[in-house]
Amino acid sequence: MSDAGWVVTIVDADVAGIRSDVRIEGDRIAGVGPTSSRRDGTVVRAEGAALLPGLHDHHLHLLAMAARDRSVDVASEPDAEAFDHRLRDAHRSLPAGSWLRVVGYDEAHGPLHPERLDALAPDRAVRVQHRTGSAWMLSSAGAAVAGVAAGWCHREDERLGRIWTGDGPPDLAAVGRRLAAYGVTGVTNATPSTDAASFELLAAARTEGAVHQRVMVTGGPGIMGLTPPGPLERGPVKIIVEDHDLPDPDQLAAWFRSAHRVGRPVAVHCVTRVAMVLALVAWEQVGSVAGDRIEHASVVPLELIDPLAALGVQVVTQPGFVHAHGDRYLRTVDAEDLPQLYRCASLLDAGSGGGGSTDAPVGPEDPWLAIRTATTRRTRHGQVLGATEAVSARTALDGFLSSPLAPGGPARSIHEGGPADLCLLDAPVDQVLAAPGSERVVATWIGGRLVHSRM
Ligand SMILES: [Zn+2]
Repeated sequence: MSDAGWVVTIVDADVAGIRSDVRIEGDRIAGVGPTSSRRDGTVVRAEGAALLPGLHDHHLHLLAMAARDRSVDVASEPDAEAFDHRLRDAHRSLPAGSWLRVVGYDEAHGPLHPERLDALAPDRAVRVQHRTGSAWMLSSAGAAVAGVAAGWCHREDERLGRIWTGDGPPDLAAVGRRLAAYGVTGVTNATPSTDAASFELLAAARTEGAVHQRVMVTGGPGIMGLTPPGPLERGPVKIIVEDHDLPDPDQLAAWFRSAHRVGRPVAVHCVTRVAMVLALVAWEQVGSVAGDRIEHASVVPLELIDPLAALGVQVVTQPGFVHAHGDRYLRTVDAEDLPQLYRCASLLDAGSGGGGSTDAPVGPEDPWLAIRTATTRRTRHGQVLGATEAVSARTALDGFLSSPLAPGGPARSIHEGGPADLCLLDAPVDQVLAAPGSERVVATWIGGRLVHSRM
């Protein structure tokens, strides 16, 4: 028996379509078999309900999720006046000396500059995150605390995230609990970290049990040779290709080559056509390795699908964006470009898609919402975006069951000797997939430990 001493028998579960008992001993699966095997320890009666290997979210940002819990979200505020009103209220309700964190700003809320924030929240350190998650506007007091010039700053989330005042470091326990309630047993923290400090925070959260989920970390090219501490697993190297700051093609190829040389795949952030083309050119020069992937692939012109598939590169997509942002896309994106947004089915058909993720907190964090949206392609207000890109709920779920280093690969299985990372649903899998939702998750085990239960 492994390190922990508990024994659990989950009786009469639907395991990949076969009614089975699953026995957990310590942190491993000790047996999967017909419903006649030994029943000792804690007995959980599944009564035919589906038991899945836990979900893996292939792209999210744990520390930013925790920071968002302490933020004022203005995404649903319609205009500048409503934005100002929210900020003034928030400023009044906060103790002196703590940050006012705001997320969800966009151009509909009017032009943003430090003087506007200073007037709304005098002497307050304020930081307003653009809805894309990659740019911040700081108030004068905020800029002074952060040690940067006032004005927009880009891709500073990690550094800003470490500057705490009054309210201390982010509370990862609440994030871990919510993920457990979705049946998520592992995540890939897809942040392009520039130093190891965020790894230390995540490692401590896992060691101390604030976060039970298995955490694979990425990190940017500057620290690609680094081995992350203790319980964290080393994932791909995260590389950002952004239109306002396009990397030199030779630099991009050099990063790919160096990552592969230290035995790591690359995870390349591409949200535009230009970024995709640049990344594909780099892969054509350097070649790809198993696990190389494109994050988001928000815009995929038809003619890039085959080259992508020929390279063997997988796309890690976020169907949840169609739900959360689809109404805006329909309003603002050129009609002829709409079919290129957040493709699923056409990438899967080409053999190049299917890694499921949420990009929380930029996208909604519930993977079941992403699964549902992948089947309906419906926006928050019920409009349909890219109907031909819809996939089955089974396919969308499998994207969240694929292995951390092979997003879009085959779904993991529940087998003897495997890790006891499990998610028990409230009905057989076909019934759940007819109406998928996180309320269908009854219990979650990670490494044999029950981390969520409404049994
Ligand atoms: Zn992200």
